[in-house]
Amino acid sequence: MTVYSGPVFEMAVKQFGVIADYLAIPKDDRDRLLMPKRAIVISCPVHRDDGSTAVFEGYRVQHHLTLGPTKGGTRFAASVDLGEVAALAIWMSWKCALVGLPYGGAKGGIGVDPLSLSARELENLSRRYMQEMIPFVGSHVDVMAPDMGTNEQVMAWFMDTYSMYQGRTVTEIVTGKPVSAGGTLGRREATGRGVAHLAKRVMLERAITLNNATAVVQGFGNVGSIAAAELQAMGVTVIAVSDHTCALHRATGLDVTSLIRYVTEHGSLQGYSKELMCDPSTILTLPCDVLVPAATERVIDATIAEKLQCKVLAEGANGPTTPDADLVLERRQDEIFLIPDILCNAGGVVVSYFEWVQDLQQLFWEEEEVMQREYQILDRAFDQMAVRAKRDKIFNRTAAMAIGVERVRAAKTTRGLFP
Ligand code: GLU
Repeated sequence: MTVYSGPVFEMAVKQFGVIADYLAIPKDDRDRLLMPKRAIVISCPVHRDDGSTAVFEGYRVQHHLTLGPTKGGTRFAASVDLGEVAALAIWMSWKCALVGLPYGGAKGGIGVDPLSLSARELENLSRRYMQEMIPFVGSHVDVMAPDMGTNEQVMAWFMDTYSMYQGRTVTEIVTGKPVSAGGTLGRREATGRGVAHLAKRVMLERAITLNNATAVVQGFGNVGSIAAAELQAMGVTVIAVSDHTCALHRATGLDVTSLIRYVTEHGSLQGYSKELMCDPSTILTLPCDVLVPAATERVIDATIAEKLQCKVLAEGANGPTTPDADLVLERRQDEIFLIPDILCNAGGVVVSYFEWVQDLQQLFWEEEEVMQREYQILDRAFDQMAVRAKRDKIFNRTAAMAIGVERVRAAKTTRGLFP
């Protein structure tokens, strides 16, 4: 029995089952590898602007403590629950191990739509969340970062709240902070840049000319918007984008710079253009070279997977593809090259690691150095995945996850039953 439930958690369990079967991991070891070490559930009371008090439920799941502190983002979204956070924490573990970071996975969140809060209420809630988490986090215990619905400003409030209680500035308690408050250059762009870098690599390997290539990006937050901008800067034509408010499509290409400017001013794509609007449910299946799902989990099910018309599927989001869709994609792997989420979006946590290291050392790097090191780590992990997939004739997701799971397992086996 477990307290974790829901479709996203079930998906993480199912995916792990596939890997564990492939690696022939015995039952006892499976439970040890999969079940999160700790889950913290808190209530966050905050004053609303109208004078009332509202209570929000917050979560943090720390998946395993075997390789170092735990690491992962904090998600503010109405759909957040313990099961989703646990699944995301598990994926962070495989991701960190795949790219070779000295961390276990973690994830946290609050079940709240951040757009339903005023700026002041958002600050109150962010600070209260961190305050409640103080006994359970630390620079060498668990290090938070942004995720859906949170940003640099929220990280600055987290860092400030933690620091107030310590009586000194502790920048290394969270990553993804503004550069003005101990953040690193290149963190905000890191995830989107990594997605575009790996997509470019696959296009070049598959002899797709960047200048003739097209891309579709679902999700226009920090990951989607920057991936779109980077792809455009490489010469790729971005033909469709969407966010939670609407989808836009133009066969000759959208102007990503003007879209980003619009979203910065208006908060979403809504109202950008009536003429370019299309049905959001159609954009994933548009013919294109690169498809970047950069929104949320489980958007590509088996039916959509059958209809995909992309050549490269670059998963910017965590868990965008269901296990049933994976079976379809595995069958179609000669047509569609999958860059699995735990590799494709790992640029974010890689540069978070750089931020943490820089904060601990109080020695800061140039942006160029951050980017080069990020690409080097992503390319190394990509090579390892590709070699493994070829050697064992397995699907890219299986190869990537197997490398992550194997590394966590090796550490646990060498250390013994603790931690
Ligand atoms: N939330 C991001 C992820 O899912 C970043 C995590 C981090 O930087 O710690 O990978």
